[in-house]
Amino acid sequence: MEVTDIEDWGLGLEKNLLIAGPCSAESPEQIEEIAKGLRGSPTQLFRAGVWKPRTRPGSFEGKGTEALGWMEIAREQLGIPITVEVANADHVEQALKAGIEVLWIGARTTVNPFSVQEISEALRGVDIPVMVKNPINPDLQLWIGALERLEKVGIHKLAAIHRGFSDPYEKRYRNKPEWSLPIHLKRMIPGISVICDPSHICGTREIVASVSQRAINFGLDGLMIETHHEPDNALSDSKQQITPETLKIIYENLAFRDTIDEHPEVISELDKFRHKIDLLDSQLLELLAERFDVIQHIGEYKREHNLAVYQPDRWQSVMESRIKAGVNKNLTEKFMKNLLFAIHEESVKKQEAQLKEAATVQKS
Ligand code: PEP
Ligand code: MN
Repeated sequence: MEVTDIEDWGLGLEKNLLIAGPCSAESPEQIEEIAKGLRGSPTQLFRAGVWKPRTRPGSFEGKGTEALGWMEIAREQLGIPITVEVANADHVEQALKAGIEVLWIGARTTVNPFSVQEISEALRGVDIPVMVKNPINPDLQLWIGALERLEKVGIHKLAAIHRGFSDPYEKRYRNKPEWSLPIHLKRMIPGISVICDPSHICGTREIVASVSQRAINFGLDGLMIETHHEPDNALSDSKQQITPETLKIIYENLAFRDTIDEHPEVISELDKFRHKIDLLDSQLLELLAERFDVIQHIGEYKREHNLAVYQPDRWQSVMESRIKAGVNKNLTEKFMKNLLFAIHEESVKKQEAQLKEAATVQKS
């Protein structure tokens, strides 16, 4: 996939992109107040939703096309480009007519290939950057698929936005972040920038700063933060929006760290430790392979004595003792559980394969 770097979009955007603005455009006065508040902040792109995808009907659904005209106020106040969400071909047509510089596709739209295709067709032959939010479910292929549909119609100015994933059991976040997915996406589509939207991840403004810092720590390329001059009175997402003043403070306190490529002098220093890690990894692998050999012997024994592969009591006691041992060595319970589940799943699979193989040999 061929992706044009954000810095080459021709809009003056730079590294550590900051996108700010309200969840929804509510009135010309609201846009003016927020834009005024953002003056002097490092905001590079102004966001506002004019068509709002709401979970249930009856809530504020955005001011639609008329609100596109209000974006001129923000452009004048801040001298920066504007981005709005589009969810169908009609939105695209209206946004292009209004001279909006960047489009974004929301999580509820990315999830639907028909909608993404409709938007892509409406953009055929148009040179405009598009940012694609992750789908509401943690499906990397669906996210990549949306980017591919846009690329196929000739859009190369592409970026992705990580806004977290819906999880009914999640308590802390509105949409649970899954940092491995954006990292994977960056590996699969070299050159793509992934922006983090901490507002929709958090759902409450108190944790926006810490999630923003995590996104930077994971090497994401920028932030999209919902900003309102009177967050509590916002017509949508009032709990998660922050004031322009808070945004400035959060941004000033973020620690941006250099990448290793920017400091070739530290590489030889780090290489010493990396060598040690390489050695430990190969020892770990040797031990794991040895462990699976023993598993194979046990599998053979179970087959000969017609015993079930899965022995719940044994598994329970292995889990308990290993977790305890791991925690004593400063490893978290969650990590130990994940590790043990992975090893156990592989062991069961191996023993099942042994049984199947033996059964086919017997038959033939
Ligand atoms: C938004 O950015 O206001 C929005 C609707 O977000 P999402 O698509 O991530 O829910
Ligand atoms: Mn919102």
